[in-house]
Amino acid sequence: MTTQTDGFHLVVDALKANGIETIYGIVGIPITDLARVAQASGIRYIGFRQETSAGNAAAAAGFLTQRPGVCLTTSGPGFLNGLPALANATTNCFPMIQISGSSNRALVDLQRGDYQDLDQLNAARPFAKAAYRITRVEDIGRGIARAVRTAVSGRPGGVYLDIPGVVLGQAMDAAAAADSVWRVVDPAPRQLPAPDAVDRAVEILAAAQRPLIVLGKGAAYAQADAAIREFVETTGIPFLPMSMAKGLLPDSHPQSVAAARSLAIGRADAVLLVGARLNWLLGHGDSPQWDAGAKFIQIDIAASEFDSNQPIAAPLAGDVGSVLAALSDHLAAHPISVPAAWTGELAERRERNDAKMAERLADDPHPMRFYNALGAIRAVLQQNPDVYVVNEGANALDLARNVIDMELPRHRLDSGTWGVMGVGMGYAIAAAVETGRPVVAIEGDSAFGFSGMEIETICRYRLPVTVVILNNGGVYRGDEEQTGGDPAPTVLNARARHELIAEAFGGKGYHVSTPAELRAALTQALVSGGPSIVDCELDPAAGVESGHLAALNPTSAARKSVSADA
Ligand code: ADP
Repeated sequence: MTTQTDGFHLVVDALKANGIETIYGIVGIPITDLARVAQASGIRYIGFRQETSAGNAAAAAGFLTQRPGVCLTTSGPGFLNGLPALANATTNCFPMIQISGSSNRALVDLQRGDYQDLDQLNAARPFAKAAYRITRVEDIGRGIARAVRTAVSGRPGGVYLDIPGVVLGQAMDAAAAADSVWRVVDPAPRQLPAPDAVDRAVEILAAAQRPLIVLGKGAAYAQADAAIREFVETTGIPFLPMSMAKGLLPDSHPQSVAAARSLAIGRADAVLLVGARLNWLLGHGDSPQWDAGAKFIQIDIAASEFDSNQPIAAPLAGDVGSVLAALSDHLAAHPISVPAAWTGELAERRERNDAKMAERLADDPHPMRFYNALGAIRAVLQQNPDVYVVNEGANALDLARNVIDMELPRHRLDSGTWGVMGVGMGYAIAAAVETGRPVVAIEGDSAFGFSGMEIETICRYRLPVTVVILNNGGVYRGDEEQTGGDPAPTVLNARARHELIAEAFGGKGYHVSTPAELRAALTQALVSGGPSIVDCELDPAAGVESGHLAALNPTSAARKSVSADA
C-alpha cells in the first residue's frame, strides 16, 4: 500500500521548503485545516479578526524580511477583505502572497450559486502583481514556487494564489508529492547596472553644484545598508530620507537634510533617487517645488519606472546594493567633491528649522496638542532607539514623521505610497512577530479605528506592542460644530477612553493628558514588554483638515477660493 498525503499538507510542505515561517490569516471554509496543519508543522500561525489586517501584516513582514509574507483567507468575503492589503502591498512594492481558498469551480463558473461563490482569480488580478490558480493537487509545489518567485523578484509586489477547496482535500501519493515540491533558487537575483550607465550617472554627479540623494523605501527594502552608508559618506552628498527610509542613516547624521527638505529639493541641480519614485510624495519632480533645470539620476529595479514623471538623465536599472557598489567603485578612481556653499546653505536652514522645532516641542499648552505629545514620545524613543515605529493618521502622521527621529534602518512603517489608513495594527503585529522587538504604534484616533479590533489579536499573542492614540476626537480634528441633530462628519469622540479596549482583552491601559504623564506611561508600557494602549487626550481644536495634504482636498480648495473672493 502506498502512503498518501493531501493538498493541505502539500501547501505547507511547499511553504516550508521556501522558508516561510509565519502565516497571517483568518480560518474558515475551506482553509481551516490548512492553518492547523501549518501550525502542527512548526509554522507560526497568527489568527486575526479581519483579513485586511492579516494581509497588512503579511505585507509588512515582506518589507522587513525580503521573504514574501503569507496571508491566508477564506472564500468569498474573506478573500475580498484581503484584497485591499494585496493592492496596498503591490503599490508599496512589498512582497506578499495572499493564499485564498475558493469555492467549487464547476458551480462558480456556471453561476449555479455555490457557498461564497466568486470568480476570485479575476477579481484579484487588477490588484496584484500576478494572480494564479492551482487546479490540481500535483501543481501545488509549482504554484507556490511561482508565487514566491513572482512576489520577490524584480519589483516586489503582492501575488494572489487561488486554491479551490477541492484541491486542498485531494489525495496524492506521498513520494510523488515530495518530488513535486521545490525550493526556489536565488528568488530575487541581483541585477547589476551596465558600465556605461554608471559612467553617465557619475558624470552628472561630478558636474553638479548642488547634488542631492533621495533615499526611498526601496532602498530600505534592499537591505544594502552598508553600501548606502559608504556611498553617502564617501561622496559627502547631502541626503533626504523618505519616511520609511528614515534610519537607513541616522536622522542625526550631519549629511541629513530632512530638516531642510524644501530648500534641498527646491535648489538641487542633480538628484540621485535611490529606490524612490517621483510620485505625488515628491511632487512628481515638478517645478516650482523642484528646480526646473534639475537633472535626475534614478536607481530602480524596475526600468519601467524611469521617465514616469520627469526625464531621467541617467537611469540605473538594478538593485540598490549592486548599483551603489558599482558607483562607489567608479568614484574611488574619480572622487567628487560637494561645493561647500551648498552644504553650508543647507546646514544653515537645518539649524534654523531645528531651533523652530525645539521651540514647538518645549511649549506645554493645556489641553495638550500634537507637538507636545510627540515631543514626549520622541524623548522616550530617543532612549529606546531599537523600538519599531508604526505611524498612521493625518496630523498624527505628518507631524510624527518630522518629530520622531529614527536611528536604525527599517524601523519605521507607515501609511506609505497610498497614504492609507488602517494599516496600523497589522503592521505593528508583523513588526513584533517578525523581529521579537518592542513596537510603538503612533496613531490618530480615526486611523486607529480602522484596525482597532486587532488589539484583541495583540493581547491574545501577548505581543510587545504599545499603541499610542493621539486623540483629538475627530478625523483631522474634533471641534467641527454640528449643524443638524447628528455629529458633524469629521467628529468622533474626544472623550473616548481607548485604553479600556486594551484592558478588555487583558492588556494594560493608560489615559494621559500631559506630556509628563505620556512620557511616564510610555516608559512603563515599554518596560512591561506586553500589550498596551496609551490614550492621549488632545485639544479637539488641534490639527488641520487633511493634514499636510490640504492642496489635494478639492472641497477645501473651493471653500478657500470662495472665502478669498468674499
Ligand atoms: P518612497 O515612497 O519611499 O519614495 P517608493 O515606494 O516610491 O519609495 O519607491 C520604491 C522604489 O524602489 C520602487 O520604484 C521599486 O521598484 C524600487 N525598488 C524596490 N526594491 C528595490 C531594490 N532592491 N533595488 C532597487 N530598487 C528597488
